[in-house]
Amino acid sequence: MPENRFSEFSVLLQAQRKQLLGEVRDKIAALGEQLGAANQSKITNDEGLADAAAEVEVAMAVRESQELQEIEAALARIDNGSYGSCADCGDEIGQARLKANPAAKRCLPCQEQYERAQGQIHLTGS
Ligand SMILES: [Zn+2]
Repeated sequence: MPENRFSEFSVLLQAQRKQLLGEVRDKIAALGEQLGAANQSKITNDEGLADAAAEVEVAMAVRESQELQEIEAALARIDNGSYGSCADCGDEIGQARLKANPAAKRCLPCQEQYERAQGQIHLTGS
């Protein structure tokens, strides 16, 4: 393996991936137990409540799996040499930002722009 200036981020990302994988597995296992218990319980009138709780759990698991995908993508970018460049404008993301968020795929201005765009989509939906 050639010397890589991003090898420290690779180590960080792999550690994050390992931790997230463990958390997602635990969540899914817990969710399975909750659903099983809800189905078995005689309080079927509370179905709506159980569904709402399950939805929150699923949303959390999905959010974490999205983080996982970002980490996987960042590791792939380290492998193919595109890591550290903004996906939108191509500029260097910067070591400080990468240290704070090793899975970052945009520079800060592009990320802020992206999040504003996302926020606007959510606002129109509510
Ligand atoms: Zn950018």
